[in-house]
Amino acid sequence: MEETSSPLEAVLSPSIADVSVLSLDVSREAIRIDVCSTAAGAACPDCGSESTRVHSSYQRFPADVPNGGRLMILRLRVRRFFCPESSCARRPFAEQLPELTRRHSRWTERLLSTLAAVGLALAGRAGARLARAFGMPISRSAVLRLLDALPEPEVPVPRVVDVDEYATRKGRIYGTVLVDVETRRPVDLLPDRMAQHRRGC
Ligand SMILES: [Zn+2]
Repeated sequence: MEETSSPLEAVLSPSIADVSVLSLDVSREAIRIDVCSTAAGAACPDCGSESTRVHSSYQRFPADVPNGGRLMILRLRVRRFFCPESSCARRPFAEQLPELTRRHSRWTERLLSTLAAVGLALAGRAGARLARAFGMPISRSAVLRLLDALPEPEVPVPRVVDVDEYATRKGRIYGTVLVDVETRRPVDLLPDRMAQHRRGC
């Protein structure tokens, strides 16, 4: 199959490096696109060694973000490489195409991040409903699993903290709250042993 290059290719894959579009078919309902990697080799996921020795190839069909109201049907030609490191247990390994594949995922990276953004904004049921309306069918439980798998956001270590008090149950239980002076966000809640003394117990 001949390699093609067109403005449409640039629109479809504006930010994906090291991939080439082999063929493109646009109909009213769908855009079918064949893609392969143009990288010379790939790094072993276990030991990090670069390899250019191809073992075999196969096809992957990850679901992608719809484009202009059309389904994106991707067919990716993925190579397997021999790991050159003799002590490495992983031989062979499959290459990953940046933004298009992730190991063991049936979604492209850009679909995954889009669904995660929808899930973060709307959670399970409403997130799944909106995603389906935009042509990205997903179940409520799959949205929740996606959110569970997201890494915890990094919380910067506060440089300066202040100590304040808090009360719950209409002032009957007291505690101490540590506050980040710069962001004014609470950092930690500590039970206050002195509370009982203040209540005269
Ligand atoms: Zn290896």
